[in-house]
Amino acid sequence: MRVKSQQNPKTNVLFRLFQLILIGIFVIAGSYQSYGQDKLFTVVIDAGHGGKDSGALGKKSKEKDIVLSVALKVGQELKDKHKDIKVIYTRDKDVFVELHKRGAIANKAHADLFVSIHANSVKSSSAHGTETFVLGVHRNATNLAVAKKENDVILLEENYEKHYDYNPKDPTSIIGLTLMQEDFLDQSIRLAKLTEKNYSTSKQLRSRGIKQAGLIVLHQTYMPSILTEIGFLSNRKEEAYLRSDKGQQKITKSIVDAIVTYKHELDQIKASVEYNKAKDESEIIAGVVFKVQISTGSKALATKPYNFKGLQPIERQKTGNHYKYYYGKTSDYKAAKRFKTRARAKGYKDAFIVAFKNGKKISVREALKKT
Ligand SMILES: [Zn+2]
Repeated sequence: MRVKSQQNPKTNVLFRLFQLILIGIFVIAGSYQSYGQDKLFTVVIDAGHGGKDSGALGKKSKEKDIVLSVALKVGQELKDKHKDIKVIYTRDKDVFVELHKRGAIANKAHADLFVSIHANSVKSSSAHGTETFVLGVHRNATNLAVAKKENDVILLEENYEKHYDYNPKDPTSIIGLTLMQEDFLDQSIRLAKLTEKNYSTSKQLRSRGIKQAGLIVLHQTYMPSILTEIGFLSNRKEEAYLRSDKGQQKITKSIVDAIVTYKHELDQIKASVEYNKAKDESEIIAGVVFKVQISTGSKALATKPYNFKGLQPIERQKTGNHYKYYYGKTSDYKAAKRFKTRARAKGYKDAFIVAFKNGKKISVREALKKT
């Protein structure tokens, strides 16, 4: 699949809206249960290949070394500047890691994103640019070729037949889109799009777009996942750029910024879902103040929590030669009910809600009357 980079603005807005709605549905559906206040947003950074598997070969460099260097830079940048993001590597040194283990690492960590970093190579030395994949059925021979090259890694694994339903020796064997990844497709595409957009701000990089292919490593994960090809080692100029500090910095920043933007968008959606939930749980009565009367007495007690079983805020009101004590103060009737429940739980068994309008006590029934 290919998402055109030049859409007209209207289509873009609609597409964006559609995405937000979809993401919203996923949030509500609880797909993000794992990413809560108690768990940091977790990103798995997967440097492709490693050890006995060199990956693509350039004139001077191996894919496994270039992508490890970039992966470590991405991880370091996230760790240094984004303390609200946890980073997990599938490898942080030159070792061979089987494809199914990479996915397992991410799944076990209940990661929120999986980002696999690779570099391309083809026979033609003129091909250049970046492309970012999400899982899917390859629609054309070029995408199939990339998938085949990345998937062939499993031939180096022992017992690969046991771990995958895919036979690398059979060209008709394809990796389907799992239901899980189908659920995450829009989010994966969003991250892929952000990544490619960031790459394309560099003069040296040309975005070849977002693509879909049956990549085993993406097939293994249970979270939004992308595989990004950061350029062609078979192109001399691009290889030099990918080897350079400047090139690696640019690619690192592109990936990091995409992750951070993605998370930021997600946080905003989550906040609005929370807000709407909170709104449903309130019943604001304009112009009315509810309080919970917890006790009366002839003594003027200090309105400190220790005098009222820890409750606060407390107000004292003198009526005649008695004092009334109120707990809580709100225009939200539902909040007032929660105050009452809390007061009763603390031992004020007869606590009840009272309502005031313009400082004058009115009945709760009157206060709740629709005007
Ligand atoms: Zn690769």
